[in-house]
Amino acid sequence: MRIVVVPCLEDNYAYLVIEGDRAAVVDPGEAAPILAAVAREGVTLTSVWATHHHPDHVGGVPELLRALPDLEIVAHERDRARVPGANKLVGDGDAIALGDVRATAIHNPGHTMGAVSYWIGAADAHPGAVFTGDTLFAAGCGRLFEGTAADMQASLARLTSLPETTEVYFGHEYTEANLKFAAAVEPDSAAVAARIAAARALRAAGRTTTPSTVAAERATNPFVRTADEAVRAAAVARDAGIDRADPSAVLGVIRTWKNSFR
Ligand code: ZN
Ligand code: FE
Repeated sequence: MRIVVVPCLEDNYAYLVIEGDRAAVVDPGEAAPILAAVAREGVTLTSVWATHHHPDHVGGVPELLRALPDLEIVAHERDRARVPGANKLVGDGDAIALGDVRATAIHNPGHTMGAVSYWIGAADAHPGAVFTGDTLFAAGCGRLFEGTAADMQASLARLTSLPETTEVYFGHEYTEANLKFAAAVEPDSAAVAARIAAARALRAAGRTTTPSTVAAERATNPFVRTADEAVRAAAVARDAGIDRADPSAVLGVIRTWKNSFR
């Protein structure tokens, strides 16, 4: 199994998951770069794995379906009517296959109610991968368009309970801005400072910051670290009325802060 990053639109990432001569594409925000990548890799595209219904993640599906009418379009059952062409609906824990590769759907309400991640466990040559769309970003999380802070907190907790070497393939290149915010939440964090330098070096070299790892998110992502004392203190400093022992309340305060952070 190998994974190819396909930049789309302004700052979106789609991904080809390639096994043998077959490929699935995660979140084709547009069709042309996907078709070009499939041709370049010399593979046959058989599936779309949609993390959620937003157009910057599934906008390429209608054109892909015109080129490849037999495509399997995987989406969460709640997105039955919202992901174009959805023909394989999954719920939490359901398995999907690409040749010998098995992925598991993890339902992640929060950004949207039909948000789903696709997790591939570790195999001999690969540490495992999870495709998280707009739920878990490098050092951040998606906005709460449909779900609550409690939904997002539970979703992030599940994703970051995966094995810590799991690679995290996220939906947008927001990493540097997210890290700037992480440093405002945890100004004394050496891990955040080191990650800022690493991300800056990657971007300066024209490279992407994807993938991250579960370990890196546990160490630096303020939305994952809502039980950490420094993150709790930062949240309480913004809103003295919250219960600092409630990770959802801490996430809610941090998320609202981030919405207006520049
Ligand atoms: Zn989205
Ligand atoms: Fe998005």
